[in-house]
Order: sequence, then C-alpha cells, then structure tokens
Amino acid sequence: MLWRRISISPPLWSSLLNNFTKSNISTSSMTMSKLAGKVAIVTASTDGIGLAIAKRLAKDGAKVMISSRKEKNVQKALDTLRTKHGIPSDQIKGQVCHVGSKEDRTKLISQTIQDFGGIDILVSNAATNPVMGSALDCPEDAWDKIFEINVKAAFLLTKEVKPHLMGRKGSNIVYVSSIAGFQPFSVLGPYSVSKTALLGLTKIMAQELGPENIRVNCVAPGIIKTRFSSAITDTDGVNEKMLEMIPLGRFGEPHEIAGLVSFLVSDDASYVTGENYVAAGGQPSRL
Ligand code: NAP
Repeated sequence: MLWRRISISPPLWSSLLNNFTKSNISTSSMTMSKLAGKVAIVTASTDGIGLAIAKRLAKDGAKVMISSRKEKNVQKALDTLRTKHGIPSDQIKGQVCHVGSKEDRTKLISQTIQDFGGIDILVSNAATNPVMGSALDCPEDAWDKIFEINVKAAFLLTKEVKPHLMGRKGSNIVYVSSIAGFQPFSVLGPYSVSKTALLGLTKIMAQELGPENIRVNCVAPGIIKTRFSSAITDTDGVNEKMLEMIPLGRFGEPHEIAGLVSFLVSDDASYVTGENYVAAGGQPSRL
C-alpha cells in the first residue's frame, strides 16, 4: 500500500503538523479579528446601512458603540445584534445620540470611552432629507436642517473625536455620502449637494488629519434597500426606471456597504486616505 511505502520520520511529521496548525490558526484569527482591539462609533446605526456597518465591524473584531435618536431603537438594535447575530454584550453597547445635538454627541463620545476605554474609528452615517422636489423650492429651514445633520454634524463629530483618535494606532474616520453626491438626483437637490459637501470634507480632513496618522475616507452608496430608500425601491414604475440605470440589475443590500467600510478602517487600507468610494452596482457616477 502506498502509505506504507512513504516513510516520514517523526521529527518531520511534527514539523509538518506544527506548520499546518500555525498557518490555520493564523489564517482563521486574521479573518475573525481583522479589527480586534479597535473601538468604533457608528452614528445612525440602529437600522439600515448603519446597523449593517455596526454588525460587520463587530463581526470583524471591533468593539462597537451603536447610536441613534430613539432609545427604543437603540435597545431593539442591541437585542438584535446580541441575540440574532451572536455578538457578545461586552463587544456592543448603545447610546442615544441625535447627531445635531452637541450634548448628545459629547455623551456618545464619553460613554464610548467609559465602556471601551478609547476610540479608534468613527463612522459618520447619519443623514436627513425633509423635502423632495425642485431645489429652488426648498424652504430655508429645510435647507438648514439638511446641512446641519448631513454636513455640519459630521464635521463637528470629527473635531470632537479627534483628540481621542490621536496617538492610537490606525485611527480612522469614514463618512457616508451618496452616489447623489456625484450625480445629483433631481428631486433630492439639497440632499445631493450636502452629500457632495462630504466628498470635499473627506479631502480636507484627510489633509489635516494625515499628520496625526488618522485616515479619512468616504463611501458613496448607490440605491441600497433600506427604509430611507423605500420610496424608490418599493414604488412600482419608479423602481424599474432606476434599475435600468444599474448595470448589476439590482438594488444594493446594506451589508454590501458594510464590507467596504470594514476594509477602509482596517490595516488592509493602511495607505488609503482622502478617497471617496462609490458602491452602486455600476450606476454612473463619474468619468
Ligand atoms: P435608514 O435605514 O432610514 O436608517 C436611518 C438610521 O438613522 C436609523 O437608525 C435612525 O434611527 C437614524 N437617524 C436618523 N436621523 C438621525 C439623527 N439625526 N441622528 C442620529 N441618528 C439618526 O437609512 P439608510 O438608508 O441606512 O441611510 C444611512 C446613510 O446612508 C445616510 O447617510 C444616507 O444618506 C446614506 N445613503 C443611503 C442610501 C440608500 O439608498 N439607502 C443611498 C446613499 C446614501 P432613529 O430614528 O432612532 O434616529
């Protein structure tokens, strides 16, 4: 029999076994804990894309602070992440935070430090869109609200979190923009302009925070199936028209944005900063 004819000496067996075990352990621990030791804050993370990002960062090993405006949504999301997705309680916490409130932002940061001992990653995901229609018909208060939540809060959170990101190894900020920031949607003019502003915020923050070894990047999702986009994805006629513009022929899923964010905040992207990444199934966004 073949196995009888091949003789491997005991020391060689032991060395082969050793190498096999080592390579398997290191491969699995690399996949399991790409973000081990990192602490992440994800805003607007009790539903949709933010919730998927929180889940993915936690699955990749980070400790994650989720947040949104409503206590009941924070509790529900925590329950889902812990019971349905098996994320341990000490790895995922929650804090109410309306990103437009300075008091809430301060509490979000201090609670994260209290629970997890520091902050390495900020994912600024919150946005609002109170009006639809012609941009020129947008009332001043709606314009102000859009820019306060979508742009100013992202900027202020960056300022407020910066002292805590400094001196940590591999700190990161990711803004969630939109494909509308590259190619404005006609009925979402002011929202689209606010998302374009985030592309610029990414560039300037990457310049200013680069010397502190803090990377800043941005993701621009296409149409992703969430509550926010349901007016497009769930309305017959509208959805078909939009799908015609998407080469992959389908709307995206929240987890498809989460994977990109997890890559950007990991060491796999250690030389990437100041970039805006579109994930839109091929929907035209730029030349
Ligand atoms: P979503 O499913 O409607 O979820 C919105 C989340 O934001 C909820 O957890 C909500 O919880 C929270 N939230 C709303 N206003 C907030 C505020 N002022 N402060 C803190 N949390 C707030 O939305 P989504 O589709 O995932 O959108 C997430 C991000 O992706 C947004 O920046 C959006 O512009 C961007 N985006 C989405 C799409 C898409 O097709 N879905 C495409 C491009 C870009 P509470 O109600 O408890 O606050």
